Amino acid sequence: MSLREARKLDKYIESVYNSLVEKDPLQKEFHQAAYEVLSTIEPAIKKFSKYKENKILERVVEPERLIQFRVPWKDKNGEIQINRGYRIQYNSAIGPYKGGFRFHPTVNLGVLKFLGFEQIFKNSLTTLPMGGAKGGSDFDPKGKTDAEVESFCTSFMLEVYKHIGQFVDVPAGDIGVGGREIGYMYGAYRKITNLHGTCVLTGKGIAFGGSLVRPEATGYGAVYFAEEMLKTKKESFKGKDVLISGSGNVAQYAAEKVMQLGGKVVTLSDSDGTVYMPKGLTKEQWDFMMELKNVKRGRISEMAEKFKGIEYKKGGKPWDYKGQVAVPSATQNELLGKDAEKLVADGILAVSEGANMPCDLKAIEVFQKAKVLYAPGKASNAGGVATSGLEMVQNSQRYFWTREEVDEKLHAIMVGIHKNAYETAKLFGQPGNYVVGANIAGFLKVADAMVAQGLYA
Ligand code: NAP
Repeated sequence: MSLREARKLDKYIESVYNSLVEKDPLQKEFHQAAYEVLSTIEPAIKKFSKYKENKILERVVEPERLIQFRVPWKDKNGEIQINRGYRIQYNSAIGPYKGGFRFHPTVNLGVLKFLGFEQIFKNSLTTLPMGGAKGGSDFDPKGKTDAEVESFCTSFMLEVYKHIGQFVDVPAGDIGVGGREIGYMYGAYRKITNLHGTCVLTGKGIAFGGSLVRPEATGYGAVYFAEEMLKTKKESFKGKDVLISGSGNVAQYAAEKVMQLGGKVVTLSDSDGTVYMPKGLTKEQWDFMMELKNVKRGRISEMAEKFKGIEYKKGGKPWDYKGQVAVPSATQNELLGKDAEKLVADGILAVSEGANMPCDLKAIEVFQKAKVLYAPGKASNAGGVATSGLEMVQNSQRYFWTREEVDEKLHAIMVGIHKNAYETAKLFGQPGNYVVGANIAGFLKVADAMVAQGLYA
């Protein structure tokens, strides 16, 4: 099914969508993300004429600035390699640009524009003053030595430092960019600029300005959001089988929080395959996975080699199994329409996106039609960037908060985002539709700021 067939668009909104497709016909992921937002904010565009008069839609789909550069680095054989680097500064109407760097071979302008565009509305939903951005490279850290990753990160920062700063743009991690990469980039930034303590990157190590609970925040947040959705149906995680995809940062901490809330994590995965744990992940197995993925940088299949009772399916997806809650936490378009149909047939109750755009448009439609509680990533995975915002606050104060204080604030923010999305959906006549609620709530704040600051801002 083409995007155009997925939902009928109002004529004006369709012209905005058609125009962005015509300008960049190959940026499929960006088209999909733009369509998801444009096709759901129509009630707000109709209710308030100022947005159309000020051409807010035409302006918001266009990045304020797009930076592309080459990144030369040396591999372990002393050979020079060249990758592409990007930073897309999408929208700064409500605060400095904020959004992660992704290092993955699939990175291109279309992928980063989808992520940057989503980030505008996600950051708005957190209630913190942060604009939207995204960046990264087609560099693949997988299988590289620490020295190779350091060489790449240093070279990347040699260009990027010119464009970032605590009042300008504050990047963080994403796929392929964890504590190790942020550490090397922060080290390079400090060496180049002779500045310390300005919050130029978030997700830093605790010893040099990082916030407690930042590594946990996206995964915990997605589970907190799911918990709020379940509460609306008088349900909880207790005793539920939970399907999690991925085994990176988001998946790891989503799994930990599910276990803490009494749920059973029955799947985890990576790009090679899926592990199935019919009895639920144990604390011992979780500890093993943390070491496997963050230190040894191994494959998820090794969990099945280590523990009896864990099955591994090469090329398998978590959606091949049964569960009542799903937290897709790997990558975009990993859960398709046919996967959604199977999950619905198996009795899924709730889907909370830990990743960005993991469900395609068809899957979303299937979930919504079946009245499954479905949370789009820009609401449910906003806990990561929200806690990055809290890292910025702590750095500005030259102070830090305890783990309990940060977790409490993160929890309150996720409860607040849920309430905002839930009530906005109701207000605009689509109760229970978290896509409409999140998109309109996120959009209104940014759009009002753009109108107030005039045409040239
Ligand atoms: P990560 O630590 O690099 O982990 C990514 C995981 O997804 C890995 O298990 C990886 O497996 C798997 N994966 C990546 N590409 C895949 C593909 N094409 N097919 C199947 N599996 C794939 O990244 P992360 O930070 O957890 O990010 C995961 C998702 O959450 C992304 O969509 C990201 O944009 C989103 N997100 C992250 C944050 C954050 O704070 N980190 C915040 C908001 C949203 P391999 O190891 O085999 O590649």
